[in-house]
Amino acid sequence: MHCPFCRHADSRVVDSRTSDDGASIRRRRQCPACNRRFTTIETASLSVVKRSGVTEPFSREKIVTGVRKACQGRPVNEDDLAVLAQKVEESLRAGGSAELDAYEIGLAILGPLRELDEVAYLRFASVYQAFDSLEDFETAINSLRAEREERAASFGEADARTADDEPSGDVVPDQV
Ligand SMILES: [Zn+2]
Repeated sequence: MHCPFCRHADSRVVDSRTSDDGASIRRRRQCPACNRRFTTIETASLSVVKRSGVTEPFSREKIVTGVRKACQGRPVNEDDLAVLAQKVEESLRAGGSAELDAYEIGLAILGPLRELDEVAYLRFASVYQAFDSLEDFETAINSLRAEREERAASFGEADARTADDEPSGDVVPDQV
């Protein structure tokens, strides 16, 4: 890369260090022309290919803006939105693809949003998945309901198991 001082076209790496979280690398560079030193920070780029074909850098802020609309009037605060955007970015990076389209990003938002707020999730999904009938809403609501019941059932089973495992003679009644 060009030297920021004299614009010389080349530079030499004199030191490289990976950041603690492993997400970036710092390089100390020296310009062979003016001998001055500078630092560069390298991170893996995540780009978004828009419908128009234009590519722009991934931005958590855009995720927050997109989801905030769906969360209007819901008990979701700015911290929740920031955490959601972070989860979305992590899952997209874990996917290993450097270029993403709107569809993939929407898909990555659905999971964490569903955990955050079911109503906001339905609103977002109705736009993203282009719901165009009551049946679409019904299907989505039924799937949320089925999952909730499944969770409740598995908690119930866990309780039952614990109760069975306890030797009954050692159980002390609550009101003694
Ligand atoms: Zn230079």
